Amino acid sequence: MSAFCTIDDKHILLYRIVWVSALPHFCGSEDCEQEGKYEVHLENGDAVWAAQEERDEVLVTLEATYGDDEQSE
Ligand SMILES: [Zn+2]
Repeated sequence: MSAFCTIDDKHILLYRIVWVSALPHFCGSEDCEQEGKYEVHLENGDAVWAAQEERDEVLVTLEATYGDDEQSE
């Protein structure tokens, strides 16, 4: 199991991820480059922007890494 996942061409350490947006970004700005992408917030206040496939992969990887053995009820 890798300690990294790939988001926006960056290798992100999984344990630095604080939260992952459930909804795609929308701000209505014409020159916004993050439209439709999902914000992934990192522990030092940085954020990276994931395409939907990347976001899904991050969640699956996080679940596989940290979600094991927590199937109780
Ligand atoms: Zn925007």
